[in-house]
Amino acid sequence: MPELPEVETVRLGLKPVMEGAVIERVSLRRPDLRSPFPPRFVQRLKGRRIVALGRRAKYLLADLDDGNVLLMHLGMSGSFRIEAEDGRKIAGRTYPPPSALRAHDHVVFDLSSGARVIFNDPRRFGMMDIVPRSGLEDSRHLKGLGIEPLGNEMSGPKLADLFKGRSAPLKAMLIDQRLIAGIGNIYACEAMWRAKLAPDLPAGRLGAATPRARAGAEALATAIREVLNEAIAAGGSSLRDHRRASGELGEFQHSFAVYDREGEPCPRCATVIRRMVQSGRSTFYCPACQRRGPDRPMTQWPSGLNVPAASQSSSGVGSRLMNP
Ligand SMILES: [Zn+2]
Repeated sequence: MPELPEVETVRLGLKPVMEGAVIERVSLRRPDLRSPFPPRFVQRLKGRRIVALGRRAKYLLADLDDGNVLLMHLGMSGSFRIEAEDGRKIAGRTYPPPSALRAHDHVVFDLSSGARVIFNDPRRFGMMDIVPRSGLEDSRHLKGLGIEPLGNEMSGPKLADLFKGRSAPLKAMLIDQRLIAGIGNIYACEAMWRAKLAPDLPAGRLGAATPRARAGAEALATAIREVLNEAIAAGGSSLRDHRRASGELGEFQHSFAVYDREGEPCPRCATVIRRMVQSGRSTFYCPACQRRGPDRPMTQWPSGLNVPAASQSSSGVGSRLMNP
């Protein structure tokens, strides 16, 4: 299941060929994805100019020149690919030439930029809809979504506020889309590791009015931003289905500190990484450097652990992660 960095990577790939382009032709090869396409989907898009391609949580938002927004969701296995006439450059780059449509190609957009954008989705959990821009935030898709993790709202105090009074484990709160939208299993594990917070810490402890709780919430907000931004810079994580619109795989799976690394050494303290099951999903964590909550800070590393000096600063960890 793609998380926010994978969707943002797809957006960055589509943006040069979609923004400013007129939709000349739309072909639907079936009546529905997860849900039916809205009535007159093809007619309502034909001739419209795409003013901007944005994103909210895991939704791609193509703003159209008639005040509507084309909403697109990748679901579990959706992907876009771009084709263009042989040798034709769009915004300075070339794309593979048009080819025969493949199995699971469900929607084809032909654009005035010369690009053909094809949506492929084997499992069909993806979704497309057209919603008025004025009612977008209240649409059934976006209503109730939590804060944007890379938006201005994300901060230590905001996290403290969201978690206040909650006894559920931190991991469960981080992947609750009603609180923060776009973080799933992978980036929740990576962010908790970076912030040195235990996955089973009652989330409410970060909402306490103590300097340590505030520091913990601040560290978590920073960790979330860092891990998401680094993942976007690496083109996302390709575990099963994720591909960029260019067809390339993401690279961030090579930089995981803990996710899917059970039994391997923690990159920070060399303790063996463990896995636990929370709400039916695997959580990967370091039992040594993530064992303390903010009310029990790590004042010194446990004896016997060999902590490389370079890994004690966050920048050191970051550079290690980018060059595993
Ligand atoms: Zn560790």
